[in-house]
Amino acid sequence: MIAPEIPQDEAQRLAALESMDVLFTPSEERFDRITRLAARLLGTPIALVSLVARDVQWFKSAQGLAARETPREISFCGHAIHADDALVVPDATQDPRFFDNPLVTDGPKIRFYAGHPIHGVNGERVGTLCVIDSEPKAFDPDQLAVLSDLAAIAESELQRGQLSETQRDLVRQMDELKRRASVDGLTRLWNRTAIMELLGAEVTRATRGVPVSLAMIDVDHFKKVNDTHGHPAGDAVLVEVAARIRRCLREYDSVGRYGGEEFIAVLSNSSLIPSMKLCQRMRMAIEKEAIDTPAGPVKVTISIGLVQTVAKKTDVESLIAAADAALYRAKKNGRNCLEVGNLDRTA
Ligand code: GH3
Ligand code: MG
Ligand code: MG
Repeated sequence: MIAPEIPQDEAQRLAALESMDVLFTPSEERFDRITRLAARLLGTPIALVSLVARDVQWFKSAQGLAARETPREISFCGHAIHADDALVVPDATQDPRFFDNPLVTDGPKIRFYAGHPIHGVNGERVGTLCVIDSEPKAFDPDQLAVLSDLAAIAESELQRGQLSETQRDLVRQMDELKRRASVDGLTRLWNRTAIMELLGAEVTRATRGVPVSLAMIDVDHFKKVNDTHGHPAGDAVLVEVAARIRRCLREYDSVGRYGGEEFIAVLSNSSLIPSMKLCQRMRMAIEKEAIDTPAGPVKVTISIGLVQTVAKKTDVESLIAAADAALYRAKKNGRNCLEVGNLDRTA
């Protein structure tokens, strides 16, 4: 195996990567969309947006792979960031750089790899969009063109930076360790601590006149899912419910896992009627289609309690209490529905 070399512009490269505010942050639909397309269009089981950080390659988005990172010294992408063209490895077992790489000999058993570099604003190669197969393969020029176009889209998304101001501020305050500890390992959403911090920051903004809505979302009869289909199926349901919620939200909204099967969405700059519509879309997105799990398709629904801040009259505790009370009413009203809370009346 030949470990990837460190590029000459490594310091600028790492600085560019850091300035994008994406390393070790929650999943975002705008990147998942690209990796889904890449896997589908190019016919590979795995597609990744991989960012080559100092010690690891970290996947901002991963289709077909549970791992979220690998050591940099065994990464294929560490090699791919040395040129502007795609690195294509038709059969890793035949390549002196990779034949005895642990990702080839075990793990995902990589045979085929094609990775196209993606750049920071000043041309630094910060990572790749790559596709991987456990079968040897060849790409024709059309397929390489697709990979290159999708990499360009991933690159403009990375450079665009779409986190809300509050999320960006939070990300900037956190070092690597804290970021890693702020993302829920199962759903790749913000975890409870982080979403509460974000809610606090949004509420501060709300008292300055920017409306914010809080949706508390709970999966209905989730205990039954575990009891009937097993814990791994329950986990798969949580991952997909999280993904569907994220897909319904706008890019600058924040969403977190509040507890076991409870989620919180903070809808920035959103007044009541649009927030209600958004919640109904979420509810229907879950209800509409069964979720694929290791135990077969499973249908679930969610109940939602929604509250809207009234400027100058809000604190996190009363918002949460009001959303919770609304959620409780939604459950009492038969579940799979939305209830709107009132900040003056928390019962
Ligand atoms: P309700 O409609 O009233 O919300 O009923 P429920 O069954 O959804 O609510 P309950 O609070 O009784 O059950 C929640 C269950 O979620 C219990 C717990 O075992 C399960 N759970 C919590 N975290 C996880 C997790 O990470 N994975 C899985 N598979 N299950 C989890
Ligand atoms: Mg619950
Ligand atoms: Mg529940």
